Amino acid sequence: MDADLIVLGGGAAGFFGAIAAAQRTSPRHVVILERSAQTLAKVRISGGGRCNATHACFEPAELITRYPRGGLALRGPLTRFGPRQTVDWFAARGVALKKEPDGRMFPDTNDSATIVDCLERAAREADVDVRLRAAVVAMTREADAFTVTLQDGETLRAPRVLLATGGAPQGHALARALGHTLVPPAPSLFTFEIADDGLRGLSGLSVPQARVRLLLEPLSRDGAAQFSQIGPVLITHWGLSGPAVLRLSAWAARELAAARYVADLEIAWITRLKPEAILDVLAARKRNTGGQHVGTQSPFGEIPLRLWKRLVARSGIHEAQIWAKLPRGNADALVRTLTGEVLRIVGKGQFKEEFVTAGGVALDEVDFRMMESRVCPGLYFAGEVLDIDGITGGFNFQAAWTTGWIAGQAANF
Ligand SMILES: Cc1cc2nc3c(=O)[nH]c(=O)nc-3n(C[C@H](O)[C@H](O)[C@H](O)COP(=O)(O)OP(=O)(O)OC[C@H]3O[C@@H](n4cnc5c(N)ncnc54)[C@H](O)[C@@H]3O)c2cc1C
Repeated sequence: MDADLIVLGGGAAGFFGAIAAAQRTSPRHVVILERSAQTLAKVRISGGGRCNATHACFEPAELITRYPRGGLALRGPLTRFGPRQTVDWFAARGVALKKEPDGRMFPDTNDSATIVDCLERAAREADVDVRLRAAVVAMTREADAFTVTLQDGETLRAPRVLLATGGAPQGHALARALGHTLVPPAPSLFTFEIADDGLRGLSGLSVPQARVRLLLEPLSRDGAAQFSQIGPVLITHWGLSGPAVLRLSAWAARELAAARYVADLEIAWITRLKPEAILDVLAARKRNTGGQHVGTQSPFGEIPLRLWKRLVARSGIHEAQIWAKLPRGNADALVRTLTGEVLRIVGKGQFKEEFVTAGGVALDEVDFRMMESRVCPGLYFAGEVLDIDGITGGFNFQAAWTTGWIAGQAANF
């Protein structure tokens, strides 16, 4: 045997798994095979270079609601190694994670290199062998061992293998070759391209508490409630972004892929007031500033003036219209636009801060107590190679740490 455990992939999940396995009471020989010239590439660029390593949500029951796919399967694992343990793990190695007001946790240096250095140092101290430019192209299993073949033809043998190849198709192919079912990949966490010329000029404006609702049938009832999200919405050059849009893109990743990213989106620009209350505000304007043009000033603090002007025009109200003479029909149309404007999504934009792949190794074929394959004993999985993905906020790394740690513990026996 060339190692006790071979880890395929030197990303967050592979490193965590390798370190956990090598650090057990009886030291084992663990090898990481990484196809590129650099380990932990995504950790380096993550969180805009700051690495949003986890989220300050310490209740597993709540935490799992942040995973459009895989939350239920993660419940047990998160009880054993969740954000609390992540914070402790890094603290024990000299890295303090600090919490931002929205719950995201970053190293207190605000530099992802701190996380990378910590993982690399921990791997060195645990005598993990890291081999770069070692792309695995094939893997077979005989009675007592796996044979892993590298691109240059070299083979390595080990009784256990941890597959932590992220969203890479090659890793999926390796899992399939050993009998696993793959849920087809689909991007998650993206922005919406919107067909509306009026929006384009408003790039950079945002609304703090909008509701975006996708007018698409969810594939399963479980996801239905999540097709409506409330939160900040940002207008971009191409359409819409912001936390509420990204969350919606994650929950509807499969449906939007099936619809080829063409769908109707209903947006309520105002959510703090009911339609009747909005009508009251408009009526007050009529009484108090009757001589003013409707588009001169936004009566709602959350709607920036330029967006207000567009919404007024969208409601069929003429530029020269004054409040005092605003017909009831126009006021009703304005309320409808403010609380339920329908926009057309015509494509998928990119979100550079954090994007993940939905899909991967089917979860019912994995024993989450050990992260071991139910199909091929001795084969373990961790990270994004699995059909697990979270919304933005540090949940994706947490899934990598959690599954990596459990696989590493289990794969050591
Ligand atoms: C720009 C960006 C920013 C992000 N920011 C955040 C963030 O702040 N917080 C957060 O929680 N998540 C973030 N994410 C998501 C997060 O990076 C991933 O969920 C996480 O990296 C998954 O870890 P992993 O180890 O499973 O996969 P990866 O990090 O993708 O690692 C897999 C490794 O396997 C290697 N590999 C693949 N195939 C083979 C093969 N055949 N042989 C050998 N090696 C192979 C790859 O080269 C890679 O190094 C971000 C993602 C991106 C793209």
